[in-house]
Amino acid sequence: MEQTFIILKPSTISRGLVGDVLTRFQRKGLIISGIKMMTLNEAILREHYAHLTDRPFFPSLVKSMMRTPVIVMALKGVDAVAVVRSMVGATNCRKAAPGTIRGDFGMSGQENIVHASDSPENAAIEIARFFKPEEIFDYDIITGPALYAPDEV
Ligand code: UDP
Ligand code: MG
Repeated sequence: MEQTFIILKPSTISRGLVGDVLTRFQRKGLIISGIKMMTLNEAILREHYAHLTDRPFFPSLVKSMMRTPVIVMALKGVDAVAVVRSMVGATNCRKAAPGTIRGDFGMSGQENIVHASDSPENAAIEIARFFKPEEIFDYDIITGPALYAPDEV
């Protein structure tokens, strides 16, 4: 089953929204396969945001991501990457549709609550970047048959 990678950003930690955001993913039926709190540093952020290092807002983004510890997660589900991206919404919270996480919880383009992988390939790279193999868990959930039909998994 597909996995995706999430960061609950300092905006989520600082504003006390960890439970609200996590609840949305769990209610949807995504399974937590890894979760931990960590402090990010400039080196890992340069890798993670390599597509943005030349942008004028990059120094501000790095500072923002190091303002508090973050919570990183791997979530598992059928089509998990696309499902989570649609739940997260547009990058700028002011433009994100109501009902999405960014649309409901934020007002900023930078302080936008969560990171979510944009492709299965990047999800695998990001999970390997932030987690050791032994920090990712594969386990059966009792709700399995209520979550998917047999031919969906
Ligand atoms: N970002 C920003 N200003 C911008 C665009 C992006 O501060 O004009 C930040 C924002 O926190 C965003 C992150 O850089 O989540 C990564 O940008 P990306 O384009 O990958 O957006 P995402 O995939 O997070 O929606
Ligand atoms: Mg992105």
